[in-house]
Amino acid sequence: MINIFAEANCNRYVRDECQYCHVYEPLSQIPKSDWHLMPEQAQIMVDKIRQMEVFHELAKREINLTGGEPSQNPYIVEIFKVFRKITPNVRIHTNLDINSEKSQRWQRLVEIMKLSGRVDFTLYPTVWESRQRSLLAEILRLQDELIVNMIFEKVSDLLSQIEILITFFGGQEKKYQSVLSLLSTYRGKLINVLAENPDCSEVAFLKHMEGVENYICADNFTFGLNMIPGFYVDKNGGRSMNAQPFPKDFNLLECTIPRGTIEIVTVQQTGEITPCCDVGNLKCQPKFGNLLLDSPEKIMRQIEVSRKKMVSGTFKNHQNINNGKAGEWVEEGIPPYCV
Ligand code: SF4
Repeated sequence: MINIFAEANCNRYVRDECQYCHVYEPLSQIPKSDWHLMPEQAQIMVDKIRQMEVFHELAKREINLTGGEPSQNPYIVEIFKVFRKITPNVRIHTNLDINSEKSQRWQRLVEIMKLSGRVDFTLYPTVWESRQRSLLAEILRLQDELIVNMIFEKVSDLLSQIEILITFFGGQEKKYQSVLSLLSTYRGKLINVLAENPDCSEVAFLKHMEGVENYICADNFTFGLNMIPGFYVDKNGGRSMNAQPFPKDFNLLECTIPRGTIEIVTVQQTGEITPCCDVGNLKCQPKFGNLLLDSPEKIMRQIEVSRKKMVSGTFKNHQNINNGKAGEWVEEGIPPYCV
């Protein structure tokens, strides 16, 4: 999968509002608040991606247009059409914090769905009733798949969000029975863990949830849940070693690159290619070059240089964690939780 940063503007998550947002600090680096990816830049990206097999293979699987808030980009429909030349799986990731069906932002999403694009959204309980709920019902009319992202600061927050979805899907037609059943399984498991072990460790939590699917495909509808723990960030936007719901554990990222595979890359607003899902908040220094400015040959050479740094850096991170020095940055410039 390739994540492409299509818009800097975050709508209500403007840069000085929510400093825990994972793009808060990276966005604050952009001098213009109205920065948009342009269709011509998207075309340059597509042309380069096609010339690099590793990127082309990732792009064929899925391209995820993100930000910021991509529905704010006035050219997002054109951009969508450009990326769809590489793959039928172009997804738009929205906050669905849209005040009316008359909004241009909503109209853009509708147009994309009518062109068989998929809209995924992040559930925000604070705007669920006032903004997201009615638009989600419309989304279900227009597409037959959906991924819901849920960011949670505590296990009880996750339960509340599951309850919101149960109430919502309970009011929809019968074809969502399997979605309801998946959500009910989650609810039962979360209620149990909160009753038995409310301050459980992440390991205990994952053990408790083991075997529960987060994806279902039935009755011509595909549904997925993406549950993301919130993180504290320092004043420079650096992510802490611990996730908020599990403050006693180190939340480690298993870097796939030293293991020989690139599964996901992110293209930031500058064209810089960051390995994995780093939109700029993880601060991984070994980049893969610049998709707008660099030649395919230069990018491929840079990947090899960066890969070596990740092999060496993840090894040192392991050593630091084992020697009581967790959190220290190594000279290779990879985050201290990457192993
Ligand atoms: S070292 Fe960490 S941030 Fe960098 S690519 Fe690997 S997992 Fe991502």
